[in-house]
Amino acid sequence: MRLRSVLVWIALGTAIAASACSATETQSGLDCDPGSDSDSDGDTDGEADAGSDSGADTDTDGFIANVCLDPGHPSSDGDKLWESIINRKVGFYLEDLLRAAGYDVLQTTDDIDEETIFADDFDNEGPAEQAMLVVTSLESRTDDCNAWPADYFISIHHNAVTDTSVNYTLTIYGEDSGYEPWFTGALDWASITTDYLYDAMNVDGYQTWGDRSALGYGLWVLQNTEMIGILTEGSFYSNPDEYGLLNTSNDYLYGEAEAIFAAFAEFTAG
Ligand SMILES: [Zn+2]
Repeated sequence: MRLRSVLVWIALGTAIAASACSATETQSGLDCDPGSDSDSDGDTDGEADAGSDSGADTDTDGFIANVCLDPGHPSSDGDKLWESIINRKVGFYLEDLLRAAGYDVLQTTDDIDEETIFADDFDNEGPAEQAMLVVTSLESRTDDCNAWPADYFISIHHNAVTDTSVNYTLTIYGEDSGYEPWFTGALDWASITTDYLYDAMNVDGYQTWGDRSALGYGLWVLQNTEMIGILTEGSFYSNPDEYGLLNTSNDYLYGEAEAIFAAFAEFTAG
Protein backbone atom coordinates (compact mmCIF):
# COMPACT_ATOMS: atom_id res chain seq x y z
CA MET A 1 0.00 0.00 0.00
CA ARG A 2 1.10 3.50 -0.70
CA LEU A 3 1.73 5.94 2.07
CA ARG A 4 -1.32 7.98 2.77
CA SER A 5 -0.06 10.71 4.97
CA VAL A 6 -2.21 13.72 4.93
CA LEU A 7 -0.80 16.56 6.89
CA VAL A 8 -3.40 19.18 7.31
CA TRP A 9 -1.70 22.02 9.02
CA ILE A 10 -4.12 23.92 11.12
CA ALA A 11 -2.28 25.56 13.96
CA LEU A 12 1.28 24.35 13.74
CA GLY A 13 1.29 24.43 9.98
CA THR A 14 0.12 27.98 9.89
CA ALA A 15 3.08 29.14 11.90
CA ILE A 16 5.63 27.13 9.96
CA ALA A 17 4.35 27.90 6.54
CA ALA A 18 3.55 31.51 7.17
CA SER A 19 7.05 32.21 8.38
CA ALA A 20 8.61 30.36 5.49
CA CYS A 21 6.43 32.17 3.04
CA SER A 22 6.94 35.65 4.30
CA ALA A 23 10.64 34.98 4.48
CA THR A 24 10.65 34.10 0.85
CA GLU A 25 8.72 37.01 -0.33
CA THR A 26 11.28 39.32 1.16
CA GLN A 27 14.40 37.25 0.62
CA SER A 28 14.72 34.89 -2.26
CA GLY A 29 11.31 33.62 -2.34
CA LEU A 30 9.42 30.63 -1.16
CA ASP A 31 7.28 29.99 -4.13
CA CYS A 32 4.03 31.02 -2.57
CA ASP A 33 2.53 32.82 -5.53
CA PRO A 34 -0.05 34.49 -3.36
CA GLY A 35 -1.51 36.71 -5.99
CA SER A 36 -4.13 38.48 -4.01
CA ASP A 37 -6.54 37.00 -1.57
CA SER A 38 -9.98 36.84 -2.99
CA ASP A 39 -11.86 37.21 0.27
CA SER A 40 -12.82 40.78 -0.42
CA ASP A 41 -14.32 40.15 -3.78
CA GLY A 42 -15.97 36.85 -3.07
CA ASP A 43 -14.45 33.48 -3.58
CA THR A 44 -15.47 31.08 -6.26
CA ASP A 45 -18.87 29.54 -5.92
CA GLY A 46 -18.12 26.60 -8.13
CA GLU A 47 -18.55 23.94 -5.54
CA ALA A 48 -21.58 22.57 -7.33
CA ASP A 49 -19.32 21.06 -9.96
CA ALA A 50 -16.94 19.42 -7.56
CA GLY A 51 -16.27 15.82 -8.23
CA SER A 52 -19.07 15.55 -10.74
CA ASP A 53 -16.87 13.74 -13.23
CA SER A 54 -16.56 10.08 -12.55
CA GLY A 55 -13.75 9.69 -15.03
CA ALA A 56 -15.54 6.72 -16.54
CA ASP A 57 -17.74 8.42 -19.08
CA THR A 58 -16.92 10.64 -22.00
CA ASP A 59 -18.41 14.03 -22.62
CA THR A 60 -20.08 15.19 -25.80
CA ASP A 61 -16.72 15.84 -27.45
CA GLY A 62 -15.60 12.29 -26.84
CA PHE A 63 -13.17 13.23 -24.09
CA ILE A 64 -13.34 11.80 -20.59
CA ALA A 65 -13.10 15.28 -19.10
CA ASN A 66 -11.40 18.66 -19.53
CA VAL A 67 -8.17 19.25 -17.62
CA CYS A 68 -6.72 22.75 -17.35
CA LEU A 69 -2.95 22.74 -16.83
CA ASP A 70 -1.30 25.84 -15.42
CA PRO A 71 2.50 25.91 -15.70
CA GLY A 72 3.46 28.54 -13.14
CA HIS A 73 5.03 31.92 -13.98
CA PRO A 74 5.92 34.44 -15.23
CA SER A 75 3.00 36.46 -13.90
CA SER A 76 5.10 39.64 -13.98
CA ASP A 77 8.24 40.73 -15.81
CA GLY A 78 11.23 38.60 -14.83
CA ASP A 79 9.14 36.41 -12.52
CA LYS A 80 10.89 33.06 -11.94
CA LEU A 81 11.95 32.54 -15.56
CA TRP A 82 13.98 29.37 -15.09
CA GLU A 83 11.24 27.78 -13.00
CA SER A 84 8.73 28.82 -15.68
CA ILE A 85 10.59 26.70 -18.22
CA ILE A 86 10.83 23.68 -15.93
CA ASN A 87 7.12 24.00 -15.13
CA ARG A 88 6.29 24.08 -18.85
CA LYS A 89 8.32 20.97 -19.55
CA VAL A 90 6.47 19.02 -16.88
CA GLY A 91 3.23 20.51 -18.21
CA PHE A 92 3.86 19.30 -21.76
CA TYR A 93 4.71 15.81 -20.56
CA LEU A 94 1.60 15.77 -18.41
CA GLU A 95 -0.54 17.00 -21.32
CA ASP A 96 0.78 14.16 -23.49
CA LEU A 97 -0.08 11.60 -20.81
CA LEU A 98 -3.56 13.02 -20.26
CA ARG A 99 -4.35 13.18 -23.97
CA ALA A 100 -3.17 9.61 -24.46
CA ALA A 101 -5.60 8.59 -21.73
CA GLY A 102 -8.55 10.34 -23.39
CA TYR A 103 -8.66 13.70 -21.62
CA ASP A 104 -8.83 17.07 -23.31
CA VAL A 105 -6.24 19.56 -22.10
CA LEU A 106 -5.96 23.34 -22.06
CA GLN A 107 -2.75 25.03 -20.97
CA THR A 108 -2.92 28.48 -19.43
CA THR A 109 0.36 29.49 -21.06
CA ASP A 110 1.10 29.59 -24.76
CA ASP A 111 4.58 30.94 -25.34
CA ILE A 112 7.32 28.35 -25.90
CA ASP A 113 6.01 25.41 -27.92
CA GLU A 114 6.71 21.77 -27.06
CA GLU A 115 9.09 21.10 -29.96
CA THR A 116 11.18 24.16 -29.13
CA ILE A 117 11.41 23.56 -25.40
CA PHE A 118 12.53 19.95 -25.86
CA ALA A 119 15.05 20.68 -28.61
CA ASP A 120 18.51 19.33 -27.79
CA ASP A 121 20.08 22.78 -27.77
CA PHE A 122 17.40 24.42 -25.64
CA ASP A 123 19.09 26.01 -22.61
CA ASN A 124 16.79 26.43 -19.61
CA GLU A 125 19.17 29.07 -18.26
CA GLY A 126 19.69 30.87 -21.55
CA PRO A 127 18.66 34.52 -21.82
CA ALA A 128 17.37 33.97 -25.36
CA GLU A 129 15.26 31.01 -24.26
CA GLN A 130 13.95 32.82 -21.19
CA ALA A 131 13.06 35.81 -23.37
CA MET A 132 10.56 33.59 -25.18
CA LEU A 133 8.40 33.47 -22.04
CA VAL A 134 5.31 35.66 -22.04
CA VAL A 135 3.89 37.16 -18.86
CA THR A 136 0.49 35.64 -18.13
CA SER A 137 -1.52 37.10 -15.27
CA LEU A 138 -3.00 34.87 -12.61
CA GLU A 139 -6.42 36.26 -13.50
CA SER A 140 -6.13 35.34 -17.15
CA ARG A 141 -5.03 31.85 -16.16
CA THR A 142 -8.07 31.22 -13.99
CA ASP A 143 -10.38 32.98 -16.45
CA ASP A 144 -9.25 30.66 -19.25
CA CYS A 145 -9.91 27.54 -17.18
CA ASN A 146 -13.32 28.79 -16.04
CA ALA A 147 -14.43 29.85 -19.51
CA TRP A 148 -13.51 26.55 -21.17
CA PRO A 149 -14.88 25.19 -18.79
CA ALA A 150 -12.42 22.77 -17.20
CA ASP A 151 -13.44 19.91 -14.95
CA TYR A 152 -10.06 19.68 -13.23
CA PHE A 153 -7.26 22.16 -12.60
CA ILE A 154 -3.57 21.45 -12.00
CA SER A 155 -1.05 24.22 -11.40
CA ILE A 156 2.55 23.06 -11.78
CA HIS A 157 5.36 24.65 -9.78
CA HIS A 158 8.74 24.07 -8.18
CA ASN A 159 9.72 25.59 -4.90
CA ALA A 160 12.56 27.62 -3.42
CA VAL A 161 13.70 28.83 -0.02
CA THR A 162 16.90 30.37 1.29
CA ASP A 163 17.95 27.18 3.13
CA THR A 164 19.50 25.16 0.31
CA SER A 165 19.29 21.89 2.27
CA VAL A 166 15.49 21.94 2.08
CA ASN A 167 13.92 19.66 -0.53
CA TYR A 168 10.48 18.16 -0.16
CA THR A 169 7.35 17.60 -2.21
CA LEU A 170 4.37 19.80 -1.48
CA THR A 171 0.83 19.67 -2.83
CA ILE A 172 -1.70 22.38 -2.01
CA TYR A 173 -5.48 22.54 -2.41
CA GLY A 174 -7.80 25.51 -1.98
CA GLU A 175 -9.71 26.15 1.24
CA ASP A 176 -12.70 28.36 1.95
CA SER A 177 -12.70 30.89 4.76
CA GLY A 178 -13.70 28.13 7.17
CA TYR A 179 -10.53 26.21 6.29
CA GLU A 180 -12.50 23.50 4.54
CA PRO A 181 -11.63 22.36 1.01
CA TRP A 182 -13.56 24.31 -1.62
CA PHE A 183 -14.20 21.04 -3.40
CA THR A 184 -15.04 17.63 -2.03
CA GLY A 185 -12.17 15.29 -2.68
CA ALA A 186 -9.52 17.97 -3.12
CA LEU A 187 -7.62 16.90 -0.01
CA ASP A 188 -7.68 13.29 -1.14
CA TRP A 189 -6.45 14.18 -4.65
CA ALA A 190 -3.71 16.37 -3.20
CA SER A 191 -2.53 13.71 -0.77
CA ILE A 192 -2.44 11.01 -3.46
CA THR A 193 -0.43 13.39 -5.63
CA THR A 194 1.99 14.04 -2.80
CA ASP A 195 2.49 10.30 -2.36
CA TYR A 196 3.29 9.71 -6.02
CA LEU A 197 5.53 12.76 -6.27
CA TYR A 198 7.42 11.72 -3.15
CA ASP A 199 8.16 8.39 -4.80
CA ALA A 200 9.22 9.95 -8.10
CA MET A 201 11.26 12.92 -6.93
CA ASN A 202 14.66 12.96 -5.27
CA VAL A 203 13.25 14.61 -2.17
CA ASP A 204 13.51 13.80 1.52
CA GLY A 205 10.03 14.70 2.66
CA TYR A 206 6.47 15.46 1.70
CA GLN A 207 3.61 17.65 2.81
CA THR A 208 0.01 18.28 1.81
CA TRP A 209 -1.59 21.56 2.76
CA GLY A 210 -4.75 23.55 2.38
CA ASP A 211 -3.71 27.00 1.24
CA ARG A 212 -5.27 29.06 4.01
CA SER A 213 -4.28 26.67 6.78
CA ALA A 214 -0.70 26.60 5.61
CA LEU A 215 -0.11 30.10 4.34
CA GLY A 216 -2.69 32.21 6.09
CA TYR A 217 -4.20 33.27 2.78
CA GLY A 218 -5.72 31.68 -0.28
CA LEU A 219 -3.70 31.14 -3.44
CA TRP A 220 -5.24 33.00 -6.37
CA VAL A 221 -5.36 30.10 -8.77
CA LEU A 222 -6.96 27.80 -6.19
CA GLN A 223 -9.42 30.43 -4.94
CA ASN A 224 -10.59 31.65 -8.33
CA THR A 225 -10.96 28.46 -10.33
CA GLU A 226 -14.47 27.05 -10.41
CA MET A 227 -13.41 23.42 -10.59
CA ILE A 228 -11.55 21.07 -8.26
CA GLY A 229 -7.83 21.69 -8.41
CA ILE A 230 -4.41 21.27 -6.90
CA LEU A 231 -1.08 23.08 -7.04
CA THR A 232 2.04 20.92 -7.09
CA GLU A 233 5.48 21.97 -5.85
CA GLY A 234 7.31 18.83 -6.90
CA SER A 235 10.60 19.75 -5.26
CA PHE A 236 12.85 22.64 -4.21
CA TYR A 237 15.14 23.96 -6.94
CA SER A 238 16.94 26.02 -4.30
CA ASN A 239 18.60 22.72 -3.39
CA PRO A 240 21.68 22.46 -5.66
CA ASP A 241 21.40 18.73 -6.32
CA GLU A 242 17.72 19.07 -7.10
CA TYR A 243 18.39 22.03 -9.38
CA GLY A 244 20.85 19.93 -11.32
CA LEU A 245 18.34 17.13 -11.79
CA LEU A 246 15.57 19.46 -12.88
CA ASN A 247 17.85 21.39 -15.18
CA THR A 248 19.61 18.54 -16.94
CA SER A 249 17.28 15.54 -16.95
CA ASN A 250 14.13 15.65 -19.01
CA ASP A 251 13.64 12.04 -17.97
CA TYR A 252 13.39 13.23 -14.39
CA LEU A 253 10.79 15.82 -15.42
CA TYR A 254 8.87 13.13 -17.29
CA GLY A 255 8.87 11.04 -14.12
CA GLU A 256 7.40 13.98 -12.27
CA ALA A 257 4.65 14.30 -14.87
CA GLU A 258 3.99 10.56 -14.66
CA ALA A 259 3.55 10.88 -10.90
CA ILE A 260 1.04 13.70 -11.23
CA PHE A 261 -0.78 11.72 -13.92
CA ALA A 262 -0.82 8.49 -11.93
CA ALA A 263 -2.27 10.31 -8.95
CA PHE A 264 -4.92 11.92 -11.14
CA ALA A 265 -5.82 8.56 -12.65
CA GLU A 266 -6.08 6.96 -9.22
CA PHE A 267 -8.14 9.83 -7.85
CA THR A 268 -10.58 9.96 -10.75
CA ALA A 269 -10.93 6.18 -10.79
CA GLY A 270 -11.83 6.26 -7.11
ZN1 LIG B 1 6.27 28.69 -8.80
